Amino acid sequence: MKLLITGGAGFIGSNFVLYMINKYPDYHIINVDALTYAGNLENLRSIEQHPNYTFVKADITDKSALEPLFAAGIDAVLNFAAESHVDRSILHPEIFVQTNILGTQTLLDLSKQYQISKFVQVSTDEVYGTLGATGLFTEETPLAPNSPYSASKAGADLLVRAYHETFGLPVNITRCSNNYGPYQFPEKLIPLMIQNALQDKQLPVYGDGLNVRDWLYVEDHCSAIDLVLHKGRNGEVYNVGGNNERDNLHVVKTILQELSKPESLITYVQDRLGHDRRYAIDADKIRKELGWQPQFAYESGIKATIQWYLNNKEWMEQVVSGSYQQYYDTQYKDR
Ligand code: NAD
Repeated sequence: MKLLITGGAGFIGSNFVLYMINKYPDYHIINVDALTYAGNLENLRSIEQHPNYTFVKADITDKSALEPLFAAGIDAVLNFAAESHVDRSILHPEIFVQTNILGTQTLLDLSKQYQISKFVQVSTDEVYGTLGATGLFTEETPLAPNSPYSASKAGADLLVRAYHETFGLPVNITRCSNNYGPYQFPEKLIPLMIQNALQDKQLPVYGDGLNVRDWLYVEDHCSAIDLVLHKGRNGEVYNVGGNNERDNLHVVKTILQELSKPESLITYVQDRLGHDRRYAIDADKIRKELGWQPQFAYESGIKATIQWYLNNKEWMEQVVSGSYQQYYDTQYKDR
């Protein structure tokens, strides 16, 4: 099988590339990534010489760069490439529309033209908007995105759906809850807090810290996408989540405890604009239809993740140098 994986140098994409090469060494994997601030080829250092792995630096909105790859034969596309950070989408929505919507449409057009056998769109539970204290997102929950990020992901999802309905393109959409694990860029909650705690810096917590996310270890997300790729019924959406609801404060306190750092490092900062209160996933469909089972409980997953960042301080130092620091200062300077 020849897979075109976009965004494979990012957090989830690189975990997925490593997962697939390990599990299916005979598959040919082409990783297309524009290497934005979030893309990091260091994540893939261990496989860069693998005979069935190819990296192509290209933007998913650039049809002429992508077309030769499709023309050479692709069985399936897995679209991870995206602008993925809500805070950045509040600062610069236009790049989210460009990559997340127009980039997806470019990939869909090429997939249709070259009649690929599966298009998997890696989406997010954030397209459903926010929940109150109870209830779960199912695949039937109406889309009600609240941030420019989630709106752009919802727009992409609707295009994917339309290419199935209109052109019969064999598609699936996965909508996963918040991921954590190795290689996550330190603008996101868990690596940000680990990084700051290790340096005895303040840990900026939005609002009252009680926003709830349904945390999933990244490898469990990878196994879900693998199942959808091979067994997903065309046209179907699959929610992915591990029933690990935790509020942000709980996550931050776990990190401080694991690193033996004081809770006095926690600083409450002005809440994110339009901050969704709670996300929680009903993943019954993928469990029952495709037999997916997450392997990692939150308690062990978070410990393994903290340990990974402790063991990979050089990776973190390289990632947080330069432009990241500039972004961090802009984001938190007035809060
Ligand atoms: P990430 O920001 O870590 O990685 C995104 C990757 O896409 C980077 O390597 C970047 O260089 C690349 N990219 C960005 N714009 C591009 C473009 N125009 N052309 C080609 N490549 C481009 O993101 P992530 O956290 O790994 O998320 C991957 C996907 O999973 C996204 O589609 C995101 O919406 C979705 N998702 C993420 C989470 C999460 O918790 N992180 C949860 C559910 C779904």
